[in-house]
Amino acid sequence: MFEALKPGQPDPLLALIAAHAADRRADKVDLGVGVYRDAEGRTPVMRAVKAAEHRLAETQETKAYLGPAGNAAFLDAMADLTFGVARPSPERMGALQTPGGTAALRMAAEVVRIADPAARVWLLEPTWPNHPPIFAAAGLSIERIAYAPAPGARPDVAAILDELRDARPGDVVVLQGACHNPTGQDLTGEDWAALAAFLNRRCLVPLIDQAYQGLGDGLDADAAGLRYLAGRVPEMLVTVSCSKNFGLYRERTGGVFVLSEGDGAANAAAAVAREARGMYSMPPDHGAALVAEILNDPDLARTWREELETMRVRLADLRKALAASHPALEPAGTGRGMFALLPINPDGVEALRTRHGIYMPGNGRINIGGLRQETLWQVAEHLGAACL
Ligand code: PMP
Repeated sequence: MFEALKPGQPDPLLALIAAHAADRRADKVDLGVGVYRDAEGRTPVMRAVKAAEHRLAETQETKAYLGPAGNAAFLDAMADLTFGVARPSPERMGALQTPGGTAALRMAAEVVRIADPAARVWLLEPTWPNHPPIFAAAGLSIERIAYAPAPGARPDVAAILDELRDARPGDVVVLQGACHNPTGQDLTGEDWAALAAFLNRRCLVPLIDQAYQGLGDGLDADAAGLRYLAGRVPEMLVTVSCSKNFGLYRERTGGVFVLSEGDGAANAAAAVAREARGMYSMPPDHGAALVAEILNDPDLARTWREELETMRVRLADLRKALAASHPALEPAGTGRGMFALLPINPDGVEALRTRHGIYMPGNGRINIGGLRQETLWQVAEHLGAACL
């Protein structure tokens, strides 16, 4: 049976990692992989996480099953972190811990499919390349519209609303909460207000993918858009990831929140829990237990917030310096978070790699965290020269 399978396409990002690892040049630069890097180029375990791990090792008394909804203390703390003062009442919100933000998106897709298999999912492109396969895997059909008029340009909400004119009631619109991947260009307060009015008028359901809270303008500022929506739309999905802001990438720590009315939230939560049971049974606990430990302990929470702020400021400073270093890189200055999408074509990307040892995916997305202050001007010169 399996001999008839065709060879799989190599994942371009994994191929990039391998090519970078094999490059012997001492001054090579990795702007590809989407993980935070500190000034030494490392992706360290955060101090608050280490401390919570020590504490957990000492105090945890059992590793018995928790159930498909996962760690309740984690979900409670994440609901506060995500929604803040706009946290919906328990009757209005169902929650499920998931193996990372990826599975949160998949479970959000599953609950949409269970509720209405004919609902379509509207993706604003460019977006995270994993969005289309996740929604397709749940059997939902996907519509793609433009997020911005050009790569790396500011999103144009009037154009987005115009492109959404064919959306049907019950269709889902996927938006990123902050630190847009791959463009770095976020929606403004006015954009969120225009979207909320339109979604309500047309009975569309927003799905907010929140994967970088705290790495843009700060923990509360980065959640302002989704909090605004939460107070105004009757139904909404929110997926969260602790991969970046807690550095818990491989621990697979995330969750999905479903906001609805009447019995909608409780029924949706039961439906996703049932779905999870058949798919992976239960989410891994370790990362979620760490996040709960950190957020429920004032000292650990303070340490974590300070560390996150250091990361955020490093990214913002590098971004500012990058934008100031070459006229072609100026648009990156208006972005937030880890990424910027540079107007470099695949040939330019290839030339940067072969001539200068600068690595990035073919679409020109760079991880700002891969830059270093000491070499920034030199790298920026090459990047700027490669821009169209
Ligand atoms: N959404 C977006 C936009 C992302 O960039 C990512 C990760 N890179 C995720 C969700 C999910 O991340 P994870 O599954 O590692 O939590």
